[in-house]
Formats: sequence, C-alpha cells, structure tokens
Amino acid sequence: MTDIAVTLAEKRGTLPAEDKLGFGKIFTDHMFVMDYVSGKGWHNARIVPYGDFDISPAAMVLHYGQAIFEGMKAFRTEDNRVVVYRPVDHLKRFNNSADILSIPQMDVDVLHDGLKKLIEIDKEWVPKSLGTSLYIRPFVISIDPFVGVRVAEQYTMFIILSPVGAYYASGFKPVKIKVEEHFVRAVKGGLGEAKTPANYAASLKAGEIAKEEGYTQVLWLDALEQKYIEEVGTMNIFFKIDDEIITPELNGSILNGITRRSVLEVARSWGMKATERRISIDEVYEAHAAGRLQEVFGSGTAAVISPVGELAWKGKKIIISDNKIGETSQKLFDYITGMQQGREADKFGWVEEVAKL
Ligand SMILES: *Cc1c(COP(=O)(O)O)cnc(C)c1O
Repeated sequence: MTDIAVTLAEKRGTLPAEDKLGFGKIFTDHMFVMDYVSGKGWHNARIVPYGDFDISPAAMVLHYGQAIFEGMKAFRTEDNRVVVYRPVDHLKRFNNSADILSIPQMDVDVLHDGLKKLIEIDKEWVPKSLGTSLYIRPFVISIDPFVGVRVAEQYTMFIILSPVGAYYASGFKPVKIKVEEHFVRAVKGGLGEAKTPANYAASLKAGEIAKEEGYTQVLWLDALEQKYIEEVGTMNIFFKIDDEIITPELNGSILNGITRRSVLEVARSWGMKATERRISIDEVYEAHAAGRLQEVFGSGTAAVISPVGELAWKGKKIIISDNKIGETSQKLFDYITGMQQGREADKFGWVEEVAKL
C-alpha cells in the first residue's frame, strides 16, 4: 500500500435525497491530492477535506490548457458492497492522456490505492437506488505561475467524487443526434485520443447549435473529409448492420472508450460479430435505405448505452429501429449495468470491490 496521509473533515455532509442528485453538482467530504515538481517527481499523496484551493492567476493551465481528466463510476450493490468498474483500465488511459499532453506519468498503483482509500472514507456517499452511482473524477492541472508557452514544471493531481442520479431519470429512451457537417472535433495527430478539456471546448459551439435545433448531441465526422464517422464527443458510436455491430477503429482522433471496449468484448462473448473499422456516413445512410441498418447506439461511462432513434445529416433525417430501443442496445445495457450493480456475474473481471457498507 502506498503511504497516503489522511486529514479528515471536521464535519461530514450527508447524501441528499437520491431522486434529487442530478449530475456533477454535489461532492463528497474528501478529495485525493498529489503534487508534482520537476526534479522531485510526484509526491505528497494525501487525502484532505474537499474544498476550494488557491492557484496563481498566472497558473499555466488557465492560459494554455495543459490538463487531463478521467471519468469512472463506483456502485453500491444490493448486498451493500461498493464496487468500481474497470478502475485500472481508466487509470492507464489517464496516463495515456498525460503522455499526449506532455504531463509526467503517474504511478498507477499510487492512484489506485488513493482511489480505494478515498472511496472507503467517503463510502456513505455512494447512493443505492437503481441507476445511481458515485462518479469519480481524477484530473491534473499545470500550476506554474508563468505566462509563457512551454511544458509546465509543476502540476497538481486530484480525485473528486460526486454522487449522481440515474442517467435515464425519465426512462431508457432513444436520443436524436445531429451529424455535424460544419464544425470538427479533432484531427488525426491532434488531441482527439486524450481526455482533455480542449476537446470539450472545441465541441461547445456545435453542441449549442444542435440543441437549438432539437438534438441532444452531435455525431462528429473526420476533420479532413467530413466523410467518416468518429464519435459523439462524450460517447463512442456503434451501428448494427446485418446483425454485425460496427464501431469506428481507433485512429488517433477518437477516444479509446472503456465502455466501447466492454461492448466489443461482451458482444463477441455472445457470438456476435463485432468489428472495428472505418465506416462512412454514406454507408450508414445506404444501409438504412436498404433496410439493413438495425440499430445505432452510443457507449460511455455516463449513460453506458444510449440508443439513437434519429440521425440528421445535411437535413436528411432517418429514423432508426422505429425510434425504439433496439434488441442489442437493451441487452448490452442490461448486461453491463447488471455486472456493475452486482446482479450479473463478473466473468470478465471488470468489477473491483473497494469497500463494504
Ligand atoms: C470519456 C469519453 C468517451 C467515453 O469513454 P468511456 O471510457 O466509455 O467513458 C467517449 N468520447 C470522449 C471524447 C470522451 O471524453
């Protein structure tokens, strides 16, 4: 076990009513923190009361955006255990994002131990109603007080925890998605494969316009030709055509989603054909016209599976699986959330127990 100093909060908060949690607005009593200074490396791993912190107005992250984050979830099972879904895979991806942003590598064991200890301390904050969870947000910011462009020499790493409500508060329902034809999210050779704030900043304008037009999110096409499917920006995307599920291959400009990986492995374990390859928006529309497009769904930690009922591209709308939840979408959602909540056996070894209540 890593040596982690713990300072407990003097007063503990309480978990609000579980139907009023929403997403990302409420935080637990403690956070994990670790510092980096060039020459010394990462040090001073500690758990402290959750609270605001001071940084210089000149802190590099505020000016040049050198930052990364992760997003994963802990769940309370029916037999009152707290489990985290694929924590080590998330922490490894965190280091991959760090590499892309020239942020020094972290010791995955230290992060893993810190995460477990933090959740143990704040375990009363893990909600129990169906669909709720404890959202885990690790992040790193560059903090040198320096207004000049270079790789930073000082960083702070945090893990904060937020109890969140059921993603599908009003039921598991298909969403409407706009295929973006004007803006682009990320280009090959850029930051697309990193979980970094810049990618979200780049997506806001398009998202806002799509919302005004009545869509929940945009589906990004490749930045060069705007021809090939990329992802949704908070989710990876899957198409079920002729009983095969297809998702864009990892090409450097999309995120290597952990839920994406889960979907591929689970579908293959069921004997389904699950393929990673380049797929164009034309192919999707042609498959629809030929009656071969059976389902479209997104995959991501927040929603797990998000069925798509409608796509709109250059003003052409297509309705998918009658705007109903497709068979595979439903089956994947039930199975993966079942594993996370302890109803399904964890035959892939993805669910790690971190505390008992
Ligand atoms: C986090 C994220 C996803 C989903 O990844 P998961 O690991 O499945 O949660 C997809 N796309 C982008 C851009 C993301 O940031």
